[in-house]
This record gives sequence, C-alpha cells and structure tokens, in this order.
Amino acid sequence: ETPLLEIKELQTGFKIGKNYYNAVEKVSFNVDRRKIVGIVGESGCGKSVMSLSVMQLLPQGIGKIRGGEIKFEGRNIEKLSEREMNKIRGKEISMIFQEPMTALNPVFTIGYQLEEVLLNHENISKKEARLKSVALLKSVGIPRPEKIVDEYPHQLSGGMRQRVMISMAIACQPKLLIADEPTTALDVTVQAQILELLKDIQEVNDMSIIMITHDLGVVSEICDEVIVMYAGKIVERADVEVLFEDPKHPYTQLLMGAIPTMDERKEKLATIEGLVPSIQNMPQVGCRFANRCPKAMPECVTITPQLFEDDPNHEVACLLYENSNTIKKPLERVVE
Ligand code: SF4
Ligand code: MG
Repeated sequence: ETPLLEIKELQTGFKIGKNYYNAVEKVSFNVDRRKIVGIVGESGCGKSVMSLSVMQLLPQGIGKIRGGEIKFEGRNIEKLSEREMNKIRGKEISMIFQEPMTALNPVFTIGYQLEEVLLNHENISKKEARLKSVALLKSVGIPRPEKIVDEYPHQLSGGMRQRVMISMAIACQPKLLIADEPTTALDVTVQAQILELLKDIQEVNDMSIIMITHDLGVVSEICDEVIVMYAGKIVERADVEVLFEDPKHPYTQLLMGAIPTMDERKEKLATIEGLVPSIQNMPQVGCRFANRCPKAMPECVTITPQLFEDDPNHEVACLLYENSNTIKKPLERVVE
C-alpha cells in the first residue's frame, strides 16, 4: 500500500528583501493511511510552514516551495494549479487551525458556512446540505444541532467553535486532516474533549491526521508516530511509545523534561534556554541546535548531522549517535 502522503526533500522558503530563506529544509516523511502523525517543536521550527506547503496556502509572493516533492496518493501535488488544488483542498485534504474564530466567518450562520462547504464539493441540493449539516454537527458532539445551525460563531464557546471547524473539515470525508495546534487556545478540559473527538472521527472516517503541536502531552494522548522538528529540519522520528521511552535527540529530551502536568499546562509551557535561530541566521554548517544543546561537542559546529536510523524505525539526527560504537551501518558524514 502506498503511503497516503509522501514528502520528499521538501524545501520551503520565505522571501526577505531580495532573498529566499528556507523555513523548511529538506524534510522527508510519510503519512500512512489511518495513522495520526504528530509534528512537534517550538514555534518557529517550520511545523506550520510545512503544513501550509502541503495545503498550498503559503502567503502569495512571500512563501514558496523551492524544492522537493509532495505526493498525495501517489500523485505529485506540489505543482498543481490553484484550480486543481481547490478540488483537493477541503475535500481530500483539509485543515483546522488554532483559533476557529479566524477561520469562521462572523457574518454568516454556522449552518450557512457548513452548507457552503458541502455545496462546493458535492452534487447535492440545498435541502440535503441543510440536513447533512445538522447531522455533521451532531457527529462532532454539538448539542441541539437544529438550533445551532441558525446561530453565529460568536454565540458559541471556543470549544464549540472548534467542534464546528472540525465538522466543516470532515464534511467531505477527507483522507487527510491537518490539525495545527487545534487545542492550544482552549482550556484543559475542553482540550481533552477535542482530542478525544479527533481520535474518534479518525477511526470512524478511516482518515489520517497530521497533528501539529508544541505540546508533547497532546502527542502522547493521540498520536501513533512522532516527528520532532527543530529549525526547519527533522531531528527525530519514531513511533510514539518508542519516542517516549527512549528519546534520543537532546532537543527531544529537553522538550520532554519540560512536559508540564495537565494542571500546569496553561501556565507553564515548555521552556528551553535560548531561541530557535531565525531563518536568516541559520548556521550553514553544523547542528542547528548546537548553541542550545547541553551535550554539544566541538564537532557539532563543523559537521552537519544527518537523519539516520539508529534503531529500527527510530531515526535521529545527532552526532552523539553517529559517533557511538553501536552504529550498525556506517554513515556518510556530509560536511556542507
Ligand atoms: Fe547536540 Fe551535537 Fe547532537 Fe546537535 S549534534 S543535538 S549539538 S550533541
Ligand atoms: Mg505554528
């Protein structure tokens, strides 16, 4: 079975002045069918840029895919025209964001906005769209959906608005849902309910989810696989149990040490000394984490670590492992 989504050597750049700087630097990974893949990292690590590249929603004239491939069901989508991409977006691949208020239109009713999505992609009557909207709202756990269809976004709570967004995103039964920090703006109890809902709809609809988050707690609750990104690159990738049991990359280890308990989560977000380098100031050689890494060695600034399989199905990009004697297959060290 071909993976649902295959990303190969993706490079996405942003224009600053006359030059492009890559916010995503040669990122490769697959999303298999019916899997929930978490992408974690602090803000500024390229997680959102990566998902906007897949959706082709990069800011026009500023953000650009500069290399690599994005294959959806075996088909290259990175070069599709806006018209072709419109058929895929919302129907085959859809996306939900952190703040549902910005994605919902405040001047239209919930029902109107849901019907629009359905009428856009499906050959159904207005009346059918109305009925389906009510059913969709019910399926995401919205009480009294017959009443809610006639309400406006501001009349709902943040959690209910996120449920509405999810219902819109799954209206056409997409195969892939990209969820960018979908619970970050919500209180802890509502967060847990939304995660539960996402897990349920993933199973019911047989779809895959890319869950973008800075919160490893979220990852541990619903993801099958985890990709850790730092400064535009993947630094570690493994199944969720493996990653939590044996985090290899110092960045992952620090993120984990910083996992607050459920109660603390709101006040105390992951904090690691120092900052992610800006895309204009990215080190050209060496490990991008070197200036913040408690385990950095002299060679970390002269040799660029490559992602490699240190254990079966567990990849890491760190010289601690490339240097270790446990290496089974020798690696080519790339000096950039
Ligand atoms: Fe730290 Fe060096 Fe590994 Fe980078 S390569 S994470 S600086 S030990
Ligand atoms: Mg983001």
